[in-house]
Parts: sequence; structure tokens; C-alpha cells
Amino acid sequence: MDKIGTDITRAASILAQGGLVGIPTETVYGLAANAFSPEAVVKIFEAKKRPLFDPLIVHTHSLEAALVFVTAIPNRARKIFDAFAPGPITILLERNKEKIPDLVTSGLDTVAVRIPNHPVTLNLLQELNFPLAAPSANPFGYVSPTTAQHVQQHLGAEVDYILDGGASEVGLESTIVGFEDGKVIIYRLGGLSVEDIEGVVGKVELQVNSSSDPRAPGQLKSHYAPGKKLYLEGSEPKGSDYSKAAYIGFDNLHKDIKPENQLLLSKGGNINEAAQKLFAALRKTDALDVDIVISAKFPESGLGMAINDRLKRAAG
Ligand code: AMP
Ligand code: MG
Repeated sequence: MDKIGTDITRAASILAQGGLVGIPTETVYGLAANAFSPEAVVKIFEAKKRPLFDPLIVHTHSLEAALVFVTAIPNRARKIFDAFAPGPITILLERNKEKIPDLVTSGLDTVAVRIPNHPVTLNLLQELNFPLAAPSANPFGYVSPTTAQHVQQHLGAEVDYILDGGASEVGLESTIVGFEDGKVIIYRLGGLSVEDIEGVVGKVELQVNSSSDPRAPGQLKSHYAPGKKLYLEGSEPKGSDYSKAAYIGFDNLHKDIKPENQLLLSKGGNINEAAQKLFAALRKTDALDVDIVISAKFPESGLGMAINDRLKRAAG
């Protein structure tokens, strides 16, 4: 039976009955369930084989709808949402414990809130009288999906339905922001650049490397990894056999690797295009007849920071 389609009413009714639906967003595809129902949410963890200490992001269609399940929206959070939502930004807000079950936040006092910028999923959220808990729709530790077909490939047996909204336009997970002692902290680099956020709230602090910190388990060291061993360019073992290597590059080919094993993310050197294509390229290397994957280092500005972060984690 074909589980991929565009029937929003069908998706809404599956979710209302406690089922799992793959949803398109501008960042990556999500694996969604009713965020108010622990029985529905536990299915997400089972399907992904995700450890229960890794909390989920809650998706909603508006700040007004979010007010039902957070205790307050502080001014700075409102400012960031006003500037960038719907969009690739997730904000940690104090959770209303009567609405959001412990399972969703791994027991944390904050809940991660996002308004995704995708017309299909915004329509779906408007049809529902509950928000959607949704992590990326990939098996835990593997590369995130950016098409409905990616979701089908690894979680087709676990989901009840996959809403097809085309390829994700941003291609990287959302940037996660929170507040501590009056400071704005970025816990995960993602589809909204640090520079953009600083343009609205001033200087922010980066806390993206604390791999044992339960506040940002998305920062686990080995994550976003394809099937083949990946090395950042220059750190591959001496004497590596380049005839058995694939290359993920920005706009320039690697001089020693066969052209047919090279994937350039943006021939015109556009960093946003590179971000959009990154995860699909990592997946493609699984099917190439190579033993290792080597990736370029991307410019450390704009979305290049998040691309380098994902590649470092994929390299483990
Ligand atoms: P995913 O959508 O698969 O990228 O996973 C969601 C990520 O959001 C988790 O891995 C965490 O890093 C982060 N997250 C979700 N809820 C919280 C929270 N309450 N506090 C800190 N980080 C969170
Ligand atoms: Mg994920």
C-alpha cells in the first residue's frame, strides 16, 4: 500500500487517533504524533529507536496556539518569533506541565517550540486541536530526511502515512535557542544563521559542543552519519585509496577522486543551496562503490557553520 500522499484530512484523522505521520517542513521531514498524548508520542521513540532522554520539538501554527502549552512567552522569544517564524528556529520555553507530558521533554522544565514554514504542515496544524511532537523522521543516529521518499526508505513500515510536500527547502534542522541568566544561548546550529539571530537580539552565546548535556542531545557526537566512514578533508588516513573514496564538495572538485564519485553541493558557491543538498548527498554516498567519504570544509559563516557542524558529527 502506498503510504505517501497529499491528503491532509487523512493525515489529521490518523494523528487524532494516535497514529504517526511523516510531515514535510522547510528544515527536514518530521515524524509527528499528538504532543498531548503520551501513548502517541511513545510510538515516535519506538519507531526511531530513539533514547527516551532525547527530547522532541513541538510544532504549532502560531504563538497564540503555543500559549496553551507554555507558561509564558518572554519578550525576547516573541521578538525572535516575530522576526523569523514561521521559519527554521526553535525556542525553548517554560512548559505547561498539565499539557505537555514528561515524555516529550524528557522531563525537562522547558519545551522546544517551533512554527514550521511549510504550507502543507501549517494547514495540517490548523486542522488539529493539538500541537505535533516531531523529531526528524530518520532512524536515530542516521542522516535526516529531506524528501518523503527518504522517510519511506527507512521508516516506511513504522509510519501510518507520509505527507508529501516536496524536497525541504532549507535542508538543515532548525536552530535551537534558549535563555539563561539573561543571555540568549544557541544550543544547536541550524537553518537560521547566528548572524540573523544576532541582528534581532544582539550578541548570543554558542553552547553547541556539550555532548553529554541533556539539554541538547541533538549534539551527540556521532549523529547525522551515513553508512560509510566519513572524514573531513585533510583528516583522512595517510595512504587512503582515493579510487575507493567519494567526495562531498562545495564548488570545487577534489583532484584525486574520480569525478563520478564526487558530489558538489553548489557549483555556483551558494551556501544556502549547499545546505539544501547536504543530507541527500550524504545518503547518495551509501549507494556508491566506495569505502570512505571525504567532505570539504565549508566557509564558517551563514549556514556554513551548521553544515560544518553536521559534517563533524557525521565524522564522529
Ligand atoms: P530532532 O528534531 O530530531 O533534531 O531532535 C530534537 C532536538 O531538539 C533534540 O535532539 C534536542 O537537541 C532538542 N530539544 C528538544 N527539546 C529540548 C529541550 N526542552 N531542551 C533542550 N533541547 C531540546
Ligand atoms: Mg534528529
